[in-house]
Amino acid sequence: MSDYVAKLMEAVKAKDPAQPEFHQAVHEVAESVQIVYDRHPIYRQTKILERIIEPERVILFRVPWVDDQGEVQVNRGFRIEMNSAIGPYKGGLRFHPSVNLGILKFLAFEQVFKNALTTLPMGGGKGGSDFDPKGKSDLEVMRFTQSFMSELFRHIGANSDVPAGDIGVGGREIGFLFGQYKKLRNEFTGVLTGKGLNWGGSLIRPEATGYGAVYFAAEMLATRGETLEGKTCIVSGSGNVAQYTAEKILDLGGKVITFSDSGGYVFDEEGVDREKLDFVMDLKNKRRGRISEYADKYPNAVYTPVDPNLDHNPLWDHKAECAFPSATQNEVNAKDAQNLVNNGAYVISEGANMPTVPEGVEIFLDNNVLYGLGKAANAGGVAVSGLEMSQNSLRLSWTREEVDKRLHGIMKSIHTQCIEAAETYGKPGNYVHGANIAGFLKVADSMLDQGVV
Ligand code: NAP
Repeated sequence: MSDYVAKLMEAVKAKDPAQPEFHQAVHEVAESVQIVYDRHPIYRQTKILERIIEPERVILFRVPWVDDQGEVQVNRGFRIEMNSAIGPYKGGLRFHPSVNLGILKFLAFEQVFKNALTTLPMGGGKGGSDFDPKGKSDLEVMRFTQSFMSELFRHIGANSDVPAGDIGVGGREIGFLFGQYKKLRNEFTGVLTGKGLNWGGSLIRPEATGYGAVYFAAEMLATRGETLEGKTCIVSGSGNVAQYTAEKILDLGGKVITFSDSGGYVFDEEGVDREKLDFVMDLKNKRRGRISEYADKYPNAVYTPVDPNLDHNPLWDHKAECAFPSATQNEVNAKDAQNLVNNGAYVISEGANMPTVPEGVEIFLDNNVLYGLGKAANAGGVAVSGLEMSQNSLRLSWTREEVDKRLHGIMKSIHTQCIEAAETYGKPGNYVHGANIAGFLKVADSMLDQGVV
């Protein structure tokens, strides 16, 4: 670690000691950016990275609501407005009991660079609550989201801050949030993305993150003259990103052998086909059940519950050429990364945000794995959110083919930016440095143009 990075990290940790995920995200970017600082001292003199790691604004609020038993519940709501150098704050809302300030700051920080890579004019933000939608009735989710928006509405707007979904926030939640915003503001605007098709949503938005992660994997494979055809793929998670990752892998002739949730994972040696994927979508999006039910329905599949005493996750210990971590942060530890490599995996495309621990990333890079980090590989979701904003502004809707074509073009462009920046700064083939540097330069130059604000 250079002196510069060591000092920066010391300061970040001293200021916010209880935010390990944020430290992890900042450290990775600082390691990449130091060479840019060395070549272009203006960024160091103007303390650009030091400014980027400080949110422009943090909003923290009480979210009281009444459950089905008539009991009052209190949750905490957050919105991190991280950086608006290249456009309005943009980033999802996460509803999960693990949500806290540090997790949202890491997500908002990552979002700044990711959004820059999309080439669309979007700044970075993130928000959410420690509310757990699991096991709640539709009415409870509605009462909670209405209360959440009753505060959030005064801080967001189509030209200032445009939230979307993330873990625990899908079409149902975006609907309730939008309804409440509209009632409070008395205006119908594109203040949220991921909206329903009848009321301003974009075709391909639900599919975009998963499709994008697979397009990114295909681009990485193309650098070695290969395609996804016939490749065996491990997918984690079974939510929005995992489902559409699986769909696109099937489209491109690959084989999906796993899904997971926080309870455990299913291994289906025969592979997931269309019918089985439809079952998972119905199970997760409508019936809101557990992935273990997959093995009840398809007895050839094996369900393995999470074992907290294990030092690795057996999900990652299967023979496969490709892996698509699509559940949550730090779900691939160093042993998991080694198991993937030992089992022949050489393509990792991250649908989730920061799913691999830093030691795992090292293992991938040391073993010449085509490693597509989350902020590049999963940028398809926010890219189509950006396209949804454009369509809302134009008051028209593009066809499915049009949006998919644009998404595909954006993922190719992100891949090219990563390759070119990595090459220019002496790390050819390293997508980590490539993504961090390309994203940083766009934001940094915009901040230089705009003065010290
Ligand atoms: P989702 O629909 O809520 O699905 C999340 C999935 O991950 C579920 O299967 C969930 O299982 C599992 N999961 C969540 N927390 C977990 C934990 N602590 N341990 C094990 N499994 C866990 O969310 P999503 O939208 O697919 O998001 C998945 C990942 O992609 C997140 O990292 C998110 O930040 C990232 N991402 C999403 C988008 C997007 O457009 N949605 C865009 C870019 C990146 P349970 O149901 O058991 O909790």
